Amino acid sequence: MKDNIRYRNAEILNASQKVLVGGVNSPARAFKHLGISPIPIKRGRGANIYDYDGNRYIDYCLSFGAAILGHADPRVVKSVRGAAIGGFAFGATSAKEAELAGLIRKAVPFINKIRFVNSGTEAVMGAVRLARGYTKRDKVLKFKNAYHGHADYLLTDAGSGLTTLKIPASKGVPSSYLKDTLIADYGNRQLIEKIFKEHGKEIAAVIVEPVGGNYGVTPPDVSLLKYLRRITRISGSLLIFDEVITGFRFSYGSSSKILGIRPDIICLGKIIGGGLPIGAFGGDYKIMKHLAPEGKVYQASTFAGNPIVMASGIATLKVLYGFRKRYERLSDLAESICETINGGARAAGVNIEVSIFKSMFSVRFKSAKEFRYFYKKLLSSGIYFAPSEYESNFISFAHTKKDIEKTERALKNIFKNWR
Ligand SMILES: *Cc1c(COP(=O)(O)O)cnc(C)c1O
Repeated sequence: MKDNIRYRNAEILNASQKVLVGGVNSPARAFKHLGISPIPIKRGRGANIYDYDGNRYIDYCLSFGAAILGHADPRVVKSVRGAAIGGFAFGATSAKEAELAGLIRKAVPFINKIRFVNSGTEAVMGAVRLARGYTKRDKVLKFKNAYHGHADYLLTDAGSGLTTLKIPASKGVPSSYLKDTLIADYGNRQLIEKIFKEHGKEIAAVIVEPVGGNYGVTPPDVSLLKYLRRITRISGSLLIFDEVITGFRFSYGSSSKILGIRPDIICLGKIIGGGLPIGAFGGDYKIMKHLAPEGKVYQASTFAGNPIVMASGIATLKVLYGFRKRYERLSDLAESICETINGGARAAGVNIEVSIFKSMFSVRFKSAKEFRYFYKKLLSSGIYFAPSEYESNFISFAHTKKDIEKTERALKNIFKNWR
């Protein structure tokens, strides 16, 4: 259905260009590398999003994975509305914080205490500071191409956003900030061993995405993750799982549960806020108690635990709990789409690499030009993928069989008429 107002996308983009840097508030949204104008989104409902020209798209970006129930789920909207009527923020504790923390704790049993923050970036910053304070060590080991938010000392070799823009490390990060950041290749066990041999006693923490979502989908290397668990224990370092994308994505809980590995600190974000800005980190009390006000590791925020965000998170997790036996369906739908992409590309002789883990998938082409072509065709067919081949696509509980069929028809057509 088309709205009455037509041709409004261009006006929105013009107005944004005048007052926002690059017309956006986060680089990936600018579509710069795609050579096309971005699509400003007016509203969303279920698996659909609508632009200001009235075009509808089936959404696989889903706010970079946050919208696992789809957009504007009526149960979540009701909860958010109810909270909003009661006032927006007080800078004081409310019942909702303990309620959401309780739900998370029940789903991720080894999380004993939680601290809420406003973004995944803040969750990681808090977790790393806590690890440094707890271990009294400075160094952090991260993996190449892993994105852990935009904290200075982790903004090097940091995956999708920077890779898409071909920036190895952000300008504005003093090299002195990176002197305690160690980088290893995911999967290169020898290098990790060597780093631990040299620096083991200085390493506060290893931070890793158990399932990579920011450099295309990287399925978990379980034996490597288990090795990380062992070596961190031996050296007295902490293991931090950055589950900002993966928390509640593959099951009702953390992916550490699926993998059978227990990290010391887990970072959450995206899904647990139901689409509102959130982050959280948690772990065993023996570590968490080092955080202020109980301990001496300082961390604070005006808006942390915001009642409206909490209301959104609580409603989202409650609905998700009801869906906990239906996660497999999301994986099946992702698999079906990936099969269609692989089949279409093969028949058309297009060289691609599809990565999938459960309900997350990404497609990489041989050249940026081919991805641009693919992406433009997708948009004109009413399909909205994440706007970079390094970003992951997601399936939500709102995607219907019909949505998937429409998407697969479009994909088949794109490859059938490949240039
Ligand atoms: C999105 C993401 C972050 C950063 O979260 P923001 O809310 O964007 O600050 C950190 N780590 C991972 C793995 C992420 O996917």
